Amino acid sequence: MTEHNIISYSGGKDSTAMLLLALERETPNLQVVFADTGNEHPSTYEYVRYVEQATGVPIRWIRADFTQQIEGRRQMMRNVIAGTHKNQGRYEWTPAIAHRALEILRPTGNPFLDMCLVHGRFPSTKVAFCSKELKRDQLTKQVHLPLLDAGDDVQSWQSVRSDEGGKRHLLTATELSMTRPNGAELWSFRPILAWKAEDCFKMHRKHGLKANPLYAQGMKRVGCMPCINAGKDELLEISKRFPEELKRIAEWERIVSLVSKTNVGTFFPASDLGATSAADAGTLTHGINARVEWAKTSRGGRQYDMLRVDSPVELCTSIYGLCE
Ligand code: SF4
Repeated sequence: MTEHNIISYSGGKDSTAMLLLALERETPNLQVVFADTGNEHPSTYEYVRYVEQATGVPIRWIRADFTQQIEGRRQMMRNVIAGTHKNQGRYEWTPAIAHRALEILRPTGNPFLDMCLVHGRFPSTKVAFCSKELKRDQLTKQVHLPLLDAGDDVQSWQSVRSDEGGKRHLLTATELSMTRPNGAELWSFRPILAWKAEDCFKMHRKHGLKANPLYAQGMKRVGCMPCINAGKDELLEISKRFPEELKRIAEWERIVSLVSKTNVGTFFPASDLGATSAADAGTLTHGINARVEWAKTSRGGRQYDMLRVDSPVELCTSIYGLCE
């Protein structure tokens, strides 16, 4: 029986530091896996390639494929049109909406967008199906299970740090996550649990590796661009530095709203901007562009804050002080 060490790699500082740690320890049977959400910044894609080349360790890219689920959704639309679908919940599917959705519901090949087509909505902090469906499930399905079912053990390296907040301080450095019927075990391994952000950057410097350039451009975390957890300041920074990414999100909102039974498909919940029902909400009034306008306001969201709007983007806003 072999034990495989699988590193879940995101292109961020933590997983890069963890990869370097694994290399320092000359970890055997190492596999590095990058789960591409399809909603990453181009700099992250470039950075993943750079790390592969700089470390000499191959990085395997995996992506979710929603082709089957989209076909399931198309069948549901046909059922609505045929009158055999049982409506549930506050809003109802109508044949007119189902016809419109059928026009749009086809795999685009972008995992994030295809996932939203399947759900008829974007994920949110309250209903955060994205990291599960785009990352965790893919790692399990495409990487861990084939090894486990071949009878091998898997050590899944996770670059979580306790001081990141939430319930992370409750996590342990090792944990048995799954035992298969054949006895093969999946272990979670969290070797940088006690590290601080600065320890991760130190590891980069020790190995002469550049950090993902997004950290020096005001981004607190490297992940989706934007992430559903992006705060007001981060969103404002993204709007100044990477307006093309928000243009893409605005287009995704247009597409997702066409497959939604409420006709609403906003990246951030419309309720955050005061909508109390689907009739109140729309991508123009509550979509990503409206959210950016809100991000330009000071506390309370009623007044424009000229300091926020006009501060130059050249300013180093990395909270890690990388340009200091
Ligand atoms: S980075 Fe954010 S948006 Fe992307 S999968 Fe993770 S939680 Fe979801």
